[in-house]
Amino acid sequence: MNSIEVNESRCPKNHPCPVVMYCPAGAITQKDYYSAPEIDESLCTKCGRCLRMCGYGAFQPASKA
Ligand code: SF4
Repeated sequence: MNSIEVNESRCPKNHPCPVVMYCPAGAITQKDYYSAPEIDESLCTKCGRCLRMCGYGAFQPASKA
């Protein structure tokens, strides 16, 4: 699978991101509740769990360059 990225335009940036605690690698962080979550690519195992967890579909495979 490609890298995972956060599509910030899909994230309403107004709540604690529930996906943070579902990442088994601890790769997702959120600066504050008004920020989109961020993925640490060095920790991400590309398991795909976050793709299914976000109700807004803000986590997605990175588009191929
Ligand atoms: S793909 Fe898996 S390891 Fe990577 S950020 Fe999403 S939940 Fe975490």
